[in-house]
Amino acid sequence: MAGVLSTVGEDWSIIEEGLKRDRLPCLETLFTVGNGYVCVRGVLEEGFYDCYPGTYIAGIYDKNTSVSWELVNAPNPLGLEIRVDGVTLDIDTLGVASHERTLDLRGAVLRRRTVFVDDEGNRYEYASRRFFSIVELHLGVVVVELRSLDRDCTVTLRKFTDGGTENRVQPSGRPMGHYTVERRSVRGAFSYLEARTLDLGLRIGVAVGAVSEDGVKFKKWTEKDKVVQEFVFHAERGRRYRFAFYLAVHTSRETPDVKRACFRSLETAVEKGWRRLLSSHRRAWEERWRTCDIYVDDAEVRRALRFNMYHLLISAPPVDMDVSVGAKALTGEWYKGHVFWDTEVYVLPFFIYTQPRIARNLLMYRYRRLDQARERAKRYGHRGAFWPWESALSGNDVTPKKWINIDGTIIPVYTGEREIHICGAVVYAIWNYYTATGDLDFMLNAGCEMIFETARFWASRATPTDDGGYHIRGVIGPNEFQESVDNNAYTNFMARFTLRLGHQLYRWLAEKHPGTMRRISQKISLSEGEAEEWLEIAEKILFPIVDNGLIEEFEDYFELKDVTVSEWDDEGRPLWPKGVRLSEVRGTQLVKQADVVMLFHLFPDEFPKEQQRINLEYYARRTMHKSSLSPPSYALAYLNVDMREEAYHYFLFSLYTDLKNIYGNTQRGIHAATLGGTWQIMVHGFAGVRAKADCLSVNPRLPRKINHIKLRVWYRKTLVEIEVKDEGVRAKVVKGKGGVTVEHRGNRYTLSKDEILTVR
Ligand code: BGC
Ligand code: BGC
Repeated sequence: MAGVLSTVGEDWSIIEEGLKRDRLPCLETLFTVGNGYVCVRGVLEEGFYDCYPGTYIAGIYDKNTSVSWELVNAPNPLGLEIRVDGVTLDIDTLGVASHERTLDLRGAVLRRRTVFVDDEGNRYEYASRRFFSIVELHLGVVVVELRSLDRDCTVTLRKFTDGGTENRVQPSGRPMGHYTVERRSVRGAFSYLEARTLDLGLRIGVAVGAVSEDGVKFKKWTEKDKVVQEFVFHAERGRRYRFAFYLAVHTSRETPDVKRACFRSLETAVEKGWRRLLSSHRRAWEERWRTCDIYVDDAEVRRALRFNMYHLLISAPPVDMDVSVGAKALTGEWYKGHVFWDTEVYVLPFFIYTQPRIARNLLMYRYRRLDQARERAKRYGHRGAFWPWESALSGNDVTPKKWINIDGTIIPVYTGEREIHICGAVVYAIWNYYTATGDLDFMLNAGCEMIFETARFWASRATPTDDGGYHIRGVIGPNEFQESVDNNAYTNFMARFTLRLGHQLYRWLAEKHPGTMRRISQKISLSEGEAEEWLEIAEKILFPIVDNGLIEEFEDYFELKDVTVSEWDDEGRPLWPKGVRLSEVRGTQLVKQADVVMLFHLFPDEFPKEQQRINLEYYARRTMHKSSLSPPSYALAYLNVDMREEAYHYFLFSLYTDLKNIYGNTQRGIHAATLGGTWQIMVHGFAGVRAKADCLSVNPRLPRKINHIKLRVWYRKTLVEIEVKDEGVRAKVVKGKGGVTVEHRGNRYTLSKDEILTVR
């Protein structure tokens, strides 16, 4: 696979060495720094022709005249302009003698050193360090250093906040502005710019505190959409000049007085100084890594895996801010910052097992939007909760009505109404969370109600047939090549799963928590009779399986023209079969992404191995992996049937999706689902670690290239360390009061604190 990065350093660094302009857009995504509240793309501070600064704040969406609500590209606090004797210091104007950037994954810091060279051969060294604190979420720091290497010169350094940013990444049409600049001011060393979003009037405050460590004086002023601080100084040859810029970001979602909050953040920041901010930030990241880092004996894989986890860790705030993770997290504008099933199915498990509080916050984001899901069900003539295929701030469905197809044409979008399997994903996620954490409080106060309402939705969405069965018609399954199908196996299975679970939970609650049961029953008018009905429908929902165990993706799928993949590229990716036009794909058995195979990813124990094998073989030859969600699901399914090398192939595909820009669109944002899918392959797949109702099961399936994995997971308030080496497993309780029951190859072992379990 062609790499984006020429060189990679030690295990914790992603390094860009040398300047290649064409890889910069992709690196802007990869080098994003942030803390889940605010993230900034990895742009060169001083910008260049194709540079795309992106500043994204969780939960700040706006619509204007766009096809849908979108994550606002907020004012850019990184603006910088440097001139040496009047000549601009940037890659468009000057030559570059050397250039290196390092994303330090361990400390979540982006470092840079560039040596520019002018026509006369004079060199100027520019260095920077950048991070957004994980301790003070509203605070970022950029430290800039400048050195003229060959002569004395006059330097003008202009630091500014750019309030002229727009959302330029549109599926079609022009860039879209989402705010007006309402306030601009400068006070002492602090500059302030306040933007107001157009539709909701959300206020975004961005303040910059500028400090020269060499006592250079500055001027300051405001322009139309800018606040500027300018330092002019005589630079002596060889001397290093350092500037610290403190960035504060607050919005009216968290505080009524945005300006005050910004200035207060800056005051604390300047008082502490960037060194202390950096060390507390690093310490907090060390702490985060202590639970989630994974050791794998392949250094290259280890680093790439850490890169994936770094991006997961910056995708969600460490505290509850009533937000969830978008398909591109906070790294780009594609898919408008919308939250899809990607979060519940792919991203969430990472948080469930390593940062359960964050997982809970992400589920609470859904719970707080239960009313909107209820209203939506009603609007469609159904009952219960109809979760939105795409969600932003309000909880209403924000799926755009038009989007760009993979061949570049603009097409109508039906996913909003029809891709209803999202309802299964939400329930699956709740159950997954509860199984691993045992968080009863969440279940009693949020989880059960969501599951009941979703069961209710499925019961009303399924229609009875003459033969006494139930059908779910007119849906889109994960395979979006097909835009309206009946009885999609995956969707029907998710419906059945929800209905059964709803019934089971009803009984459990009535018996164990009658008070809660009464409260919920009253709130949503739920009766035992209705819960019994769910079970009845569940058992009668059509699930199409043909004689040899093959699951039919949807009704009459097997009647479609059978086209299979017969060629793969050098990386093992399927090539589009000759003679099939995209507009005709609907008439064929070609599949966009894992669909039936999703079932084996999510429910590995529910299908006999032989059946999984048969289906995998069939669908692998027809799946185009046109979504990056697909490879991780295939990897996990292959592991279920012990086809480890096939799994390893899809693992690499998934692991390097962004680092090697496999889909060619990483510049538009990170593939959040794939990050989480990659983690699942490593933990659930290779290491075989999975929470069950009454134990933590550890059944490794190592591929040839991996012999040693060491990881930590939370299971029911206990932090367990699992080490898999060749055929053996070692487990110990690292934190937590109680012990844990570990299941390995059908045997159970009870492990108390400080005890070490070693099994083969
Ligand atoms: C995706 C759909 C999505 C639509 C609009 C398509 O590319 O495949 O899932 O709903 O874009 O965002
Ligand atoms: C996929 C969906 C996914 C969406 C966002 C689409 O291309 O088909 O399954 O939810 O992208 O990542």
